[in-house]
Amino acid sequence: MNRNDYTSYESNAYPDLALNIITRQEHNISRKQISDNALKVLYRLVGAGFNAYLVGGGVRDLLLGQIPKDFDIATNATPEQIKQLFRNCRLIGRRFRLAHIMFGRDIIEVATFRGHHQTPAKNVSAQSKEGMLLRDNVYGTIDEDAERRDFTINAMYYSISDYNIHDYAGGNEDLEDRLIRLIGDPETRYREDPVRMLRAIRFACKLDFDIEEDTAEPIERLAPLLQDIPSARLYEESLKLLQSGNGLETYHLMREYNLFQQLFPLLAEHFTEDYSSHTEQMLDIVLDSTDLRIEEGKRINPAFMFAAMLWYPMVSLAEKLVEERKLSYYDAVMEASNIVIDQQVKTISIPRRHTATIREIWQLQLRLPRRNGKRASRLMELNKFRAGYDFLEMRGEIEGGEIEELANWWETFQNASREKKQEMVTEMGGSSKPSYRRRKTYRNKKKSKSAE
Ligand code: ATP
Ligand code: MG
Repeated sequence: MNRNDYTSYESNAYPDLALNIITRQEHNISRKQISDNALKVLYRLVGAGFNAYLVGGGVRDLLLGQIPKDFDIATNATPEQIKQLFRNCRLIGRRFRLAHIMFGRDIIEVATFRGHHQTPAKNVSAQSKEGMLLRDNVYGTIDEDAERRDFTINAMYYSISDYNIHDYAGGNEDLEDRLIRLIGDPETRYREDPVRMLRAIRFACKLDFDIEEDTAEPIERLAPLLQDIPSARLYEESLKLLQSGNGLETYHLMREYNLFQQLFPLLAEHFTEDYSSHTEQMLDIVLDSTDLRIEEGKRINPAFMFAAMLWYPMVSLAEKLVEERKLSYYDAVMEASNIVIDQQVKTISIPRRHTATIREIWQLQLRLPRRNGKRASRLMELNKFRAGYDFLEMRGEIEGGEIEELANWWETFQNASREKKQEMVTEMGGSSKPSYRRRKTYRNKKKSKSAE
């Protein structure tokens, strides 16, 4: 989906773009590959006398023979004109007004061409002192619109009138060379919108492209500019980066460019030269398994991923609290959970429903060792049991020893017959020896804490 967040402003960062037309004989896009809803919107706009093009990821992915995630449309109709044409239309966006045409759950995003800013602009554009664009509400022509887009491969327009592709920035050549190249002067374009640095990495991994040299050069240096981006936008972006099927590779590339460190400063504290810390091992495991689940068409839950990523930083803080403040382990974990989540949401605003799940998954790690009596069966009935167990298994892979044994026990238990389950619980005895080294503290504490 086209975010309503990209920005532009009058600067000499933009070259004069030369239009290259790729005729229908020269490309492989056919109307059949475009969704019916997108076609409807294109035809209605053209029927009403406007120009309308498919643009962005839709064109790019089709040219690469891939299935686009969504179809974005660009037009010379203003948002108000679009609204008059479609009953199912909502106008959204503050920085740049966009039209959403709703077809049930499918939303087609239609953007009016953006233009150069006249100076002095009538308060339609605004820029921060770092060069970042705050507002951008000037409409323009198609070639101006092309200059405002981020990468050359994202600035190709497919015309529904003659089936030609209008390539303004040499995108087709870069597609052939498999290159991510910013349009215009890279540093200026990153300063305007630092999220473009993340997008460069995302597309490089998704498409298996290289980042062109000049486009790559400023990233490491400018990475800290991401600190100025609203946490809500970074949350959305982080999901696109890590939960789109190439999470593992994307994390590694982000890390090379000093970008991951900006989004997850708490994890960065645990980064080592040889990628060997528990935090780093967990990142590899959880991102790899997320990628695999996506490949298998299974559901993925952002809360699980964040819980796994932040677990070891949380544990190391809890251990510090035990040491320094003489807290019980249970209390320390509760406190450390609060601190770690509070800090993380400052950069990436993980929604509350997810932070609640993160806590549940963490708390289950304290409960899963306690399996005697009826506890094991009761634990299995918990909503988040599966997530808690899956996570325990990942920890077992990293930590080995007791945790691995515990994960194995649970695996057997879940698949066991009723008799076998009984046996397993009995075997542990009423006063089973602590199989979790923190158990004692936790138990003592629990007596005074009935609400678990
Ligand atoms: P995908 O949808 O597969 O993630 P996409 O290229 O379609 O990729 P969107 O976020 O849907 O990405 O944006 C649609 C188009 O809008 C892009 O192709 C690009 O032309 C333009 N665009 C999006 N974000 C920016 C940005 N931050 N700066 C400049 N142009 C942008
Ligand atoms: Mg898109």
